[in-house]
Amino acid sequence: MRPARAQVLVAVDEEARQAGVERVLAALREALRDYGLAEEVQVIETGTLGPSGQGVVLAVYPDGVFYGRVQPQDVREIVEVHLLKGRPVARLRLPTAAPVARPGEILGRQTRVVLRNVGVIDPENIEEYLAQGGYEALAKALLEMKPEEVIEEVRRAGLRGRGGAGFPTGVKWAAVRQAPGPEKYVVCNADEGEPGTFKDRLLLEGDPHRILEAMAIAGYAVGAQRGIIYVRGEYTLSLRRLERALAQARAYGLLGENILESGFSFDIEVRPGAGAYVCGEETALLESLEGKRGWPRIRPPYPVTRGLWGKPTVVNNVETLANVPDILLRGAAWFRSLGTPTCPGTKVYTILGHVRFPGLVEVEMGTPLRALIYELGGGLRDGRALKAVLIGGAAGAFLTAEDLDVRLDFDSLAGKAAVLGSGAVLVMDDTACIVDMLGSILRFFRHESCGQCAPCRAGTDLLVRLWEGIRRGQAQEEALDRMVEITEVMRQASLCPLGQSLALPVRSALEKFRPEFLGHARGAPCPSCRREGP
Ligand code: SF4
Repeated sequence: MRPARAQVLVAVDEEARQAGVERVLAALREALRDYGLAEEVQVIETGTLGPSGQGVVLAVYPDGVFYGRVQPQDVREIVEVHLLKGRPVARLRLPTAAPVARPGEILGRQTRVVLRNVGVIDPENIEEYLAQGGYEALAKALLEMKPEEVIEEVRRAGLRGRGGAGFPTGVKWAAVRQAPGPEKYVVCNADEGEPGTFKDRLLLEGDPHRILEAMAIAGYAVGAQRGIIYVRGEYTLSLRRLERALAQARAYGLLGENILESGFSFDIEVRPGAGAYVCGEETALLESLEGKRGWPRIRPPYPVTRGLWGKPTVVNNVETLANVPDILLRGAAWFRSLGTPTCPGTKVYTILGHVRFPGLVEVEMGTPLRALIYELGGGLRDGRALKAVLIGGAAGAFLTAEDLDVRLDFDSLAGKAAVLGSGAVLVMDDTACIVDMLGSILRFFRHESCGQCAPCRAGTDLLVRLWEGIRRGQAQEEALDRMVEITEVMRQASLCPLGQSLALPVRSALEKFRPEFLGHARGAPCPSCRREGP
C-alpha cells in the first residue's frame, strides 16, 4: 500500500463530540471517497489538538493548517479546495502566524512531554502508542531494573506531584515500598473537579496507555499488584477509552499475570466517581473507593501507610504519572534539564477566559506568566487590558498585571502567595467584575463543602452571606476584614484542603481589588458588572 500523501487529524474529545464530530467524520470520509482521495488522504481520529471553545477542530498535514468550528457542510469545501487544489480554506482556518510544524502546537512553541502523543496518535489503537515507544519504559523497568532502582530514578528526577501539592513522587513511592505488608495499591486520581480544569481529561482521552504504563511501573516499584483509576463520572469518553486501552494492554500481555514473563503481575480497574469535588482530596477519594461517603480522613496516618482498605497506597495525579515513562526511558538527568532546579520538568495548563486562543498547553516549569498569556494564549481578545488572572483553579489566587513576570513553578508562586494548583489559568479583562467572580467561587465552595467539620461547614456559609451583603450594597468595610478573619480560621482549623484553601482567593481578591469591593459594599456603580447602584 502506498503511503498517504496527506493526513487529516481530527480531534475527537468531549468538546468535539458535543459539537457533532461524528457527523463531520462521516461527511469527511464520504467526501474523500467521492473525490477519489480515500487512498491518498488518511483520516486519523486523535485527542485534542490544543484549542478549546472551537467546536470540531481538524488539522491537515504535512501543510500544518488548522481548521475550527467545522460543520458537516464545510467538509466538501476543505476536501475540494484544500486537499484537491492545494489552497487552504481561509474562512475556516484557525489563526496562526505560520503553518504549525507539529500537531498540538497551534497555541505556540511548547515543550511537550506528557502531551507528546496527544493530538498525534489514535488513542484507541495500542499499535500507535507502541510505535511511539509506548510500554518500552515498562519493559525496561521489569527486565533491567530492580524496584528500588525505579524509585531512585524517579527520586533523582525530582518529579513533584502535579495534583497541586507538589510532594516529591519518589519519596511517596519509597514510603509505600518500605511500608510493611504484602497487599498494596496504586491509585490514579482522575477526579478532576476543579472549575476550569480539564487537562487530566484531555490526557486520558488523548493518551490513555501512557497512564496505564505509568501505573504498572509504579506498581512494580512499590510492590503493588492492583491499580485503580478513579475517574470523574462525567468523563464518559475518558472512561470508554480507558476501558478499551485496558482490554488492549491485557491482550498484548502488558497487564495481567506475569507481564512480559518478568514474574510481575499487575492489573488495573476503572471506577467512575459520583461528582463530589471533595473526592479529589486523596483520603475522601479512598473512602469513596471503599463504598463509603466521600469524607476526608483525619491525617496522619497517611495513605502511604494506611490507604485503600487500610493498606499502603500510592495516590498520584494523572499528570504526575504521565511523566514517569519518559523519566525511565530518558533518565533523571534529562528530566532535570527541563524546568527549574527545585521544580524540574514541565507543567500542563488550561488557559481560559478573555484570551484570543484558549486551550491546552505544556511548557517548562518556571515559564513566566506573561509568556503563557501573551505568547501561547495570544494575548487578550479585542485588545482589552488585563485586569486579573485567577491561577490554580477556584482554590487559587488572583494576580494582576504587576505579577506577570512571576515564574510558574511551585516555589516562585509561593512567593506571591499563589499556587500552581490544578494548572487552570483564568484570564480576565477589564469587563470582569472581581466581586462577582469571588461570589461564584464562594457559592461553589459552600455547595461542595462536605459538612464534616464546623469551620468549613459554617465558614463557607458565613462567607457567602457576607458577600451577599457586599453585592447588595448593604455592607460596611468591616465585612471585608471579617471575611479575611473567617478564612484564616478555616485555614487553621479545617480538616482538608477544601476548607483550608479558600483563604487564597478571598485574601488575594480583597487585597488586590479592595476599592472594587468597597464600592460594591457602599452601593456605588460598577463599570465592570454594570451595576448601577442600589
Ligand atoms: Fe469537609 Fe470542608 Fe471539612 Fe474538608 S474542610 S472535611 S470539605 S467540611
